[in-house]
Amino acid sequence: MDSPMEVKNRQLNPDPVSCGTPVKDVILPDNAPKELLLQKHADYIAAYGNKKDDYILTLYDAVDEIDIDNLVKWVVSMQQEDGSFYGDKWGEVDTRFSFCATACLTLLGRQDAMNVDKAVEFVLSCMNFDGGFGCRPGSESHSGQIYCCVGFLAITGHLHNVDADRLGWWLCERQLPSGGLNGRPEKLPDVCYSWWVLASMAIIGRLHWIDKEKLRRFILACQDEETGGFADRPGDMVDPFHTLFGLAGLSLLGDKSVLPVNPVYCMPEDVIRKLSLNNYEVDER
Ligand SMILES: [Zn+2]
Repeated sequence: MDSPMEVKNRQLNPDPVSCGTPVKDVILPDNAPKELLLQKHADYIAAYGNKKDDYILTLYDAVDEIDIDNLVKWVVSMQQEDGSFYGDKWGEVDTRFSFCATACLTLLGRQDAMNVDKAVEFVLSCMNFDGGFGCRPGSESHSGQIYCCVGFLAITGHLHNVDADRLGWWLCERQLPSGGLNGRPEKLPDVCYSWWVLASMAIIGRLHWIDKEKLRRFILACQDEETGGFADRPGDMVDPFHTLFGLAGLSLLGDKSVLPVNPVYCMPEDVIRKLSLNNYEVDER
């Protein structure tokens, strides 16, 4: 049987005569950057230095600055009877909130404050026939939600419930001829999916099912040579969101000029190691 990579290569280089429905994709301009503009990105990110948000506190080892008990109480109050989490008092339920709440409590060493069993039950009820996850039970699989659910299951020690081969196939099929990854079928590639898709593949041990070199070229082509920063696609406006996920994606691809990033928390590995949180199960099959 062909390996997923061999089949993928055929899909990325289809016989032009037998092409079916054209895929939505972008063409990388010839003059797009091919090297990482590290200093430019550092300057771009530094310009945001005076807009630090709370999440920075863990990175800076400064969680004592906050009222942890009150914060834990609020996060736990968002958990519903079926195990799901609201994002805020307005009551939207989404698996993203299951991940955010659990990652937040775990980073603070307070995972025991939530009902983990019910939370796991809810997330598993969002698993679909294609191996992916949606935002609520019965919702379409989406790479953003897949990252949240797979990360959640890794943190809580329930990753063995994932069908890694089935999900790995769905995830590697997100790669388009340009090398970029989309979030679900029929969508354009986007740098942030270099994170949502790639991190999920890393957690389930299927990172080698992607054409890494092609993805790297796509990510590098999304850099702005003048101001630094990454855009969602080549030539678009840059922003901190896509800059983070562009750099984090390159780190997962093994780029030695950026620090190793943790695929579950999207934080530097040394911070996660310092908190002794790097002991979650990873599928190595
Ligand atoms: Zn995006």
